[in-house]
Amino acid sequence: MKADLEKSVQFVKGVGPRRAALLKKLGVETVEELLYYFPRGYQDRRFFRSISSLKEGETATIRGRVLASGIIRTRKGKKIFRLVIEDKSGKIPCTWFNQPYLKENFRKGEEIVFSGKVQRYRTLQMVNPEYEKPSEGQKALIHSGRIVPFYPLTEGLNQKALRRVISGAIREYLPHLDDMLPERLRRRWKVVDFNRAMENIHYPPDYDALREARKRLILDEFFLLQLALGVKRARRSLEERAPSHRADSLLLEKFIQSLPFRLTRAQGRAIWEIKNDMKSSRPMNRLLQGDVGSGKTLVAVCGLVFTVDNGYQGAIMVPTEILAQQHYQNLRSMLAPLGIVVDLFTAGVKSAEREELLKRIENGESQVVVGTQALIQEKVVFKKLGMVVADEQHKFGVMERARLKAKGWFPHVLVMTATPIPRTLTLTVFGDLDVSVLDELPPGRKKVRTYWIGPAKLPGAYAFIREEVTKKRQAFIIYPLIEESESLEVKAATEMFRHLRDRVFPEIKLGMVHGRMPSGEKEKIMKDFRDKIIDVLVSTVVVEIGIDIPDATVMLIENAERFGLAQLHQLRGRVGRSRHQSYCILQGNPRTEDGIKRLQAMKNIDDGFVIAQEDLDIRGPGEFFGTRQHGLPEIRIGRILADVELMEFARRQAFRIIEKDPRLSDTEFSLIRRKLQARYGGKLELGQIG
Ligand code: ADP
Ligand code: MG
Repeated sequence: MKADLEKSVQFVKGVGPRRAALLKKLGVETVEELLYYFPRGYQDRRFFRSISSLKEGETATIRGRVLASGIIRTRKGKKIFRLVIEDKSGKIPCTWFNQPYLKENFRKGEEIVFSGKVQRYRTLQMVNPEYEKPSEGQKALIHSGRIVPFYPLTEGLNQKALRRVISGAIREYLPHLDDMLPERLRRRWKVVDFNRAMENIHYPPDYDALREARKRLILDEFFLLQLALGVKRARRSLEERAPSHRADSLLLEKFIQSLPFRLTRAQGRAIWEIKNDMKSSRPMNRLLQGDVGSGKTLVAVCGLVFTVDNGYQGAIMVPTEILAQQHYQNLRSMLAPLGIVVDLFTAGVKSAEREELLKRIENGESQVVVGTQALIQEKVVFKKLGMVVADEQHKFGVMERARLKAKGWFPHVLVMTATPIPRTLTLTVFGDLDVSVLDELPPGRKKVRTYWIGPAKLPGAYAFIREEVTKKRQAFIIYPLIEESESLEVKAATEMFRHLRDRVFPEIKLGMVHGRMPSGEKEKIMKDFRDKIIDVLVSTVVVEIGIDIPDATVMLIENAERFGLAQLHQLRGRVGRSRHQSYCILQGNPRTEDGIKRLQAMKNIDDGFVIAQEDLDIRGPGEFFGTRQHGLPEIRIGRILADVELMEFARRQAFRIIEKDPRLSDTEFSLIRRKLQARYGGKLELGQIG
């Protein structure tokens, strides 16, 4: 049976070598692919209209007899084929340009069905209508008298030809299609059977049937995707061991009690989820999402305390040295009172010190190590690594879990991100991770006030910064530069900086970082800014994600239209990190509609998740993360944005099945297993399933 469907599309009636080549252009090479070539739209041609009732501008289907035909020449010498058709109510001409050969197709008195648009050129007529002869011996009409499919085409292959080919294939091959879903599931999910769905997606008898067909086929796709993700996850839990932690930790309790504030509910929930994961011998693989300032670091630190109390070491990795230093100081001040030893390991550590440090990590004296990627890239050997936290995973790229394998076990992994990832993507691209969300900010935070101004209002913005600095606050000025060459860019940055320092802010301490600066120099300036040696930081790049400058209250972004929404939101997150009221001023004069939409979204929305959803809508899912990092799974019929509820349903069903039967070894799943293998076997590195 299966072989039938995998054979070349050339075996389908009406497909010769020429059409096979055209179909290949559409991505259709096998019979199965032809059946899966779904319409892009439909036209309702179920009802025949009487000719006398036709009105200009409408699209209609009529049925009548040929009264007369002939070829007319226009003044410019073009040939028009004209046919007059008549039914009981009246008559109407149909015209075709430059197709004189059509004359051979019609005999006087013959009955024909026409579908097309009614237009007026002196008189009412149908121009270039589709036609079909009911007498052609088919059981049912294909191009009319029903809801008719419209397929995406390619040059040389027209709608009618493709409809005929697909309709033939359906009749011939549909009986050979197996339904992968056992009847038990079909009934529980309330979906139609597969053959019916496949037939009705092409030729629906009515719109309810079309909806049912779509639902069934979308569910099939989503279900397979979620099964693939679920199988991958289950396999990990079967094959990978992690240290399982005791549930209760007095040290963690003591730590939480010692905090000068109460945990938010969201933090409490996330910590509970993390502890729960770490009790299991299956390695945690969790994504912690939360807007800037939602208190992710604290959640991670609780996890680290938990692992230390269980006798293991913890590591936290951040993208840059400056962030590592900041986290190190922060963590040390929190953990030293508990008697936990915290160390800093970065590429910048001098070699004598480094030897010493490596030893301490190896013999377990270091209990929590803060560092950059150097931590997993170099030969750092932990005595008993229990948990790894990665902050802002986007800069790490794909986590190299294999590298983390230590002495026969995998540590628990928590990945933190402030880039809000819409639910649709956490269900798909990140679908094999567990997700905790901090959807609430600590109380008392003031919203950052966001303004959008034109270039003429800049002096006012500068004056405002001056005022804030007198109140001992700090400010960022972001100035994106795009120059063709490095030297031009450095020059422009330098000139712009001089102008601001000497003309605009002569009485204020300014510092600048730009994209071409050596990283050591950059870090020195950032440190000065943090230590308040500098009041206003001018930057030509997106300032370090996660940098914490509590007194910074103004974020001025010039030419803001040059940044993407996610970046703008990140930048805004650099302020508003204390009890002071903060401000984000976007100066921009966008020329494109997208640019306007972005700045408007920033002005109106402050919830990062809503912004991310907006971003997804403006840019489309493929570009959301840049194509380099994440490939979206190919989905043929479902729209992962619009059909999110079906995706969730499919996920619940898939995970429920896998929980009971992680290898899908029950015979009722044998067809599902085969499809899964064919579809995702290679891509998701599923290996051999079952
Ligand atoms: P994120 O990393 O999510 O951007 P941080 O972890 O840096 O946020 O937290 C931002 C600030 O909020 C820090 O100064 C932190 O001490 C503080 N904070 C964290 N949790 C709470 C809380 N529950 N109540 C009050 N302040 C908090
Ligand atoms: Mg942070």
